[in-house]
Amino acid sequence: MDLLAKLLRQNNVTKPVIDDKNNVVKQIDENVKLYWALRILGTSYVPISTTDVEIRIPLEDLGLFDNIELNPYRVFNNTLELLYRNWLTPLVKLNGLSSDGIRVWAKLEGFNPYSGSIKNRIGWYMFTKSIEEGEVTRDKKVLYEATSTNTGMALAAMAAIHRYKAKLYLSASIQKVSDTLLRVLGVEVIRKPKTLTVEFVDEVENDAKRDNALHLNQFENDYNFEVHLKYTVKEIEIQCREAGFYPKAIVGGIGTFGHMTVIAFYFKNRFKGCTRIHCIQPVQGHVILGIRRIETGMKWIRLVEVDNTIDVERDEAIKEAINIAHHEGILVGLSSGAVIAGFRKLVNEGIIEEGDYALVFPDHGFKYFEHFEEYFNKYGY
Ligand code: PLP
Repeated sequence: MDLLAKLLRQNNVTKPVIDDKNNVVKQIDENVKLYWALRILGTSYVPISTTDVEIRIPLEDLGLFDNIELNPYRVFNNTLELLYRNWLTPLVKLNGLSSDGIRVWAKLEGFNPYSGSIKNRIGWYMFTKSIEEGEVTRDKKVLYEATSTNTGMALAAMAAIHRYKAKLYLSASIQKVSDTLLRVLGVEVIRKPKTLTVEFVDEVENDAKRDNALHLNQFENDYNFEVHLKYTVKEIEIQCREAGFYPKAIVGGIGTFGHMTVIAFYFKNRFKGCTRIHCIQPVQGHVILGIRRIETGMKWIRLVEVDNTIDVERDEAIKEAINIAHHEGILVGLSSGAVIAGFRKLVNEGIIEEGDYALVFPDHGFKYFEHFEEYFNKYGY
């Protein structure tokens, strides 16, 4: 990953010349290295520009989904295909949020099947890669993971499909229904009376070592980065193109900083200087499940620069999740509400000018009824 970061920062990539046996036949040294680094990531070409010039290479040449055949009729041979052959997740225009030359689009990650969230992508990819690498073995038949529910449900699904067991560690602040949902998926749930911090994850790592369990560790696992580079960002790009715009900015929440790092990394390079990246975090001391503050430490942060980090209060996030349901008829989670609240702040601060904006909604709202109830009890309907 370090080599990749260095190469991506330094190089201006042109399309390598390839012979009919798929060998690179003409390239300068550094670009050959970069080319192979990207090949390892399964992404043949990601154009990187060190100048102000936008590199125009059609996504078809970059290879949308190098290795997955999409499935227009949506008939699936198993529940794994239901995940990855059901992509792309929808991009939908939110007319209630759009106005005066500002068009707002939402990428609905709640359409992923296992946990109704973006974390299905990493659960599937981290687990699949660990099978390929021989880490999922007969003598190691249990996985441990710290989760705020979504990654846990995705890994629980992967464990169920592969006849594996899972033990998931949840912090005290997470809604009660998560225990039930995870148990329905066959998982052992451990509640810890603390918040999800680096120390929390270290404890899970120690338990996993002690018990010879698989710990995929979403906070450190580079496949969390890779899966978004291979799929998520390309989906967003092709959908924006289909809708006839490039995004003036992309707005999203940060947890492990998996998806927003890659979105920043890809769009900043591909549309040099054109796409801004705004990240949403909870106000200090507020709990918005799935997202956390940037200073709590995130592995891939050094790979990218973001334009703004916006603080959102918990109640603002819940209010916006309710608001979007009232106006657009979609149920989204609290971090999606936080993304909307953050976007509104950017509008109010005059940072948002005319154009098209993409908001990433990480999950569906079904897990959060306890939070909605609590909000209604406090403020009324
Ligand atoms: N929103 C929700 C609901 C999540 O569950 C998560 C991650 O767990 C995020 C946002 C943040 O995503 P990432 O870990 O890619 O930063």
